This record gives sequence, structure tokens and C-alpha cells, in this order.
Amino acid sequence: MVIKKLRLTNFRNFKEKTVEFNNNLTIIIGENAKGKTNLLEAVHFGLNGVGFRESKEVELLKFDTKSHGSVEIELVNGKNKLSFKIILVKKELGENARVEKSFFVGRTKKRQFQYREELLRAVLFTPQQIEILTGSPERRRDYFNKHLSIYDFEYKKRLDNYEKALRRRNKVLEKHEDRKKAEEELVFWDTYLENEASYVTLKRGEYINFLNKNSKVNSKEFHIEYLKNEFNKKRISEVREIEFAARRTVIGPQKDEFQISLMDGAEKNVHRFGSRSEQRLTILWLKLGEMQYCREKTGNDPILLFDDIFSELDVKNRKLIFKVIENHQVIATTTEEEVLPIAKLQKSILRI
Ligand code: ATP
Ligand code: MG
Repeated sequence: MVIKKLRLTNFRNFKEKTVEFNNNLTIIIGENAKGKTNLLEAVHFGLNGVGFRESKEVELLKFDTKSHGSVEIELVNGKNKLSFKIILVKKELGENARVEKSFFVGRTKKRQFQYREELLRAVLFTPQQIEILTGSPERRRDYFNKHLSIYDFEYKKRLDNYEKALRRRNKVLEKHEDRKKAEEELVFWDTYLENEASYVTLKRGEYINFLNKNSKVNSKEFHIEYLKNEFNKKRISEVREIEFAARRTVIGPQKDEFQISLMDGAEKNVHRFGSRSEQRLTILWLKLGEMQYCREKTGNDPILLFDDIFSELDVKNRKLIFKVIENHQVIATTTEEEVLPIAKLQKSILRI
């Protein structure tokens, strides 16, 4: 299955735009602020129903749009052509503006998860992803949550349940006046949270084991440690006094941490000691993991989306990237035209 065409209306800076992609490599070249990243985001949105930069979905619509916009992708599978379309309708203007999304496969309206089930998966590479390593533990949890949610709807559901119930539990601890009454209320939330947390912890652990089984990129070896913070009866009773004093929940997977090391003779913590290029390579390792996971879960190769494909990479690592992307459909953006072997890649270039 390959993505052939992307058609946009009122998406980010594009009023109307249609682009066609090659079956293997497409390199989008354009000056700064032309809309390269926006095009990649549109592909990501068309495949997943979510972008990768917005803090509110309404930001995906062109600023001056009053009514609606759309993202349509055309896929080709053997002789079959399939159209997947998401319509974004703007509700209310000004401060309260928001969007409602409708999903269509051909002409048939679908629920979001049904729409996604039928589609290709994408693995996204952006320069900002280095923050998965340099950012807070929350950034890492967010990364693993998003990844696992794509393949496991149950994970997403249980995580949402957990987060909602955690807020309710915190309210009980925060507002309590009568300790006995609060403890009675907590019995329900503790059982509920333990159940949801155990699934989240289990699935995170399984994925971390999977990553450690595929630990190498070229000659470099990585290891990831899952520092889990379990929510169970034993721990709840251990921290009961602390929780009543602090008036909030102090344990659970919302405090999980993940630590990646480069096995460079000794174990080196990449978050703290990795050089910029070592950190980039670590991200590449995580992404190779996503690709492998996609193959195992769906039987299909994912499409690869690379924003600023060569940023901060030296020649050796650029070669490595070219090796990784062989045999995949790839959509990449770059401003660094001069580093491309242009003559060889003539057919792959899409100027905007
Ligand atoms: P660079 O080379 O700097 O990475 P780019 O080609 O990737 O640039 P984009 O990030 O795609 O550029 O953004 C293109 C333009 O779209 C920017 O000027 C940005 O401010 C603008 N833009 C972003 N969101 C919207 C929106 N909702 N409506 C209109 N314009 C937008
Ligand atoms: Mg960009």
C-alpha cells in the first residue's frame, strides 16, 4: 500500500493544494516557511486523525478560515484506489473556536478508530523529537503513550480512564475533612485505579522489552530501563500517611520514568551525557523500534515521514539514514538542497 496523493483545503498555510508522491522516495524542497512541515503534518493528520504540532486542533485550519477545511489522501493497494478524507468543521469563532472532525473512507462515514484501522501506519521523524531524551519524564511518557495508543486501542482507553480517575482520587485527598469518610471513598478509586494502572504498566513494560531485544543500530548498542512506579495495594498502604499529608496521589504510572543508555564500553546515560549526534542516533534507534513494531503488529511496513531529514547529521549518519529508508515509502523535507545528490534523486524531488 502506498500513498499517492494528498489534497488539502484550508489546512495550515494552504488554501488549496494537491501534491503527488512517489512510490519510494519524495523529497519536498522549499525555502523556509513555505509549508514543508505543514505538508508532512497533513499526511500525518490524514493517516492518524491527529497532527503533531498543534496544541489545539483548530490551529490546523488556515487562520482566516471561517467554515471548514479538509485533508484527503489517496492510497493505492495493487490495483485498488482508496480515498480517506477528514473534514474539519470550525465551531464558533474567536477565543472559543474549536473543530469537529468527520472521517470518510470513500463516501462512507466512519468512526475515528475504524478509519485508522484500515490505513497505513506512519513513523515520524522530526528534529524536535530530541526532546524525548532531553525533556522531562512527562515528555517520554507522552511519546510511549502515543506510540502504544496507535496499535492498542485498549491501552488508550485504560490510560484515559486512569487519568480521569486519578483526578477524582486527588480531589478526595485534596478536599478531605473527615479522614474516615475519605478513606471509604478511596476504597473504590484505589481498586479502579489499580486495575487500569496494571494494564498500562504491563504494556509499557512489554514495549520496553521489545526495544531491548532490538538493541543495535550499526555498531552502537542501546539499552532502555523502565523505572516503573506501580499502583497496587501494597504500595498504597505504604504511602497512605504521606498521601493524606500531601493531599494528593504520590504513586502510579503517571510517575513512570524511562532511561536510555548507550552501551559504549560502560553504560552511558544518553539523556545527560550523550553528544547531540549520539542523541540523534538514539532517536533513530527508537524510530527503528517503531518501524519493527509496526511490521510485527500489522504485517506491513510503515510509511516514513522525515521533517528536516538531514539536520545536524554528519556524512556517516546521513548515509545511515539513506540505508534505513531503503525499501520504504518515504516523504522527507529539507532546505539543504546542496547536500543532496541531486542528479541521482531528480525523480524524487518535489519543489513547493
Ligand atoms: P522551515 O524551513 O522554516 O521549517 P516550513 O516550510 O517547514 O519552514 P511550515 O512550518 O510548514 O514551514 O510553515 C509555513 C507557514 O505556515 C509558516 O509561516 C507558519 O507560520 C504558517 N502557518 C502555520 N499554521 C498556520 C495556520 N493555521 N494558518 C495559516 N498559516 C499557518
Ligand atoms: Mg519546517
